[in-house]
Amino acid sequence: MVLISCKNCHKVYEKENYEDFVCTRCKHKVTRRVKDSLQISLALVICAILLYIPAMIYPMMVVTKFGVNIESTIIEGVISFLDMESYFIALVIFIASVAIPIIKLIGLLFIFITLKINVKMENKRKITIYKFIEAIGKWSMIDIYVVAILASIVQLDELFNIKGGIAATSFALMVILTIIAANRFDTRIIWDE
Ligand SMILES: [Zn+2]
Repeated sequence: MVLISCKNCHKVYEKENYEDFVCTRCKHKVTRRVKDSLQISLALVICAILLYIPAMIYPMMVVTKFGVNIESTIIEGVISFLDMESYFIALVIFIASVAIPIIKLIGLLFIFITLKINVKMENKRKITIYKFIEAIGKWSMIDIYVVAILASIVQLDELFNIKGGIAATSFALMVILTIIAANRFDTRIIWDE
């Protein structure tokens, strides 16, 4: 007799063996491990890291300064807001669109690589990593919300506009790929020997 929990809704079943079955509550297909989970999540994170580069080096917004439109990258935008003494907006943009994405990506990359190359670690450390993944998951949507809300509020003041193009597209794709990589990852792999 084995106890199996549905990864989607966490309902626990008592089964004879580890064969696949469909969850009766949420219709999710319950498998012992998600197929190729680590490889796919690792590939997605690498793509997301590559997308982070154009998102940072190409102009993302148009800042209106003394009636003149200046195209600027995210970092230049943060600096412009600092110059205008809008410290709160500068801080929010920096945290939401520069700091959180890279912390998430490096965290996930670290976890996936240690699992991929089979770094020997104590269970205690594995638990810490697992909790870190969970914490990342909980915050994984903040950047989208903050940027969306901020764009709508600040646009009223005609201070800055989100410019379309390479940077904005790369940024959006990066956020989406990061979310898929984190959600698709089967955390039970951490416990495999
Ligand atoms: Zn379920």
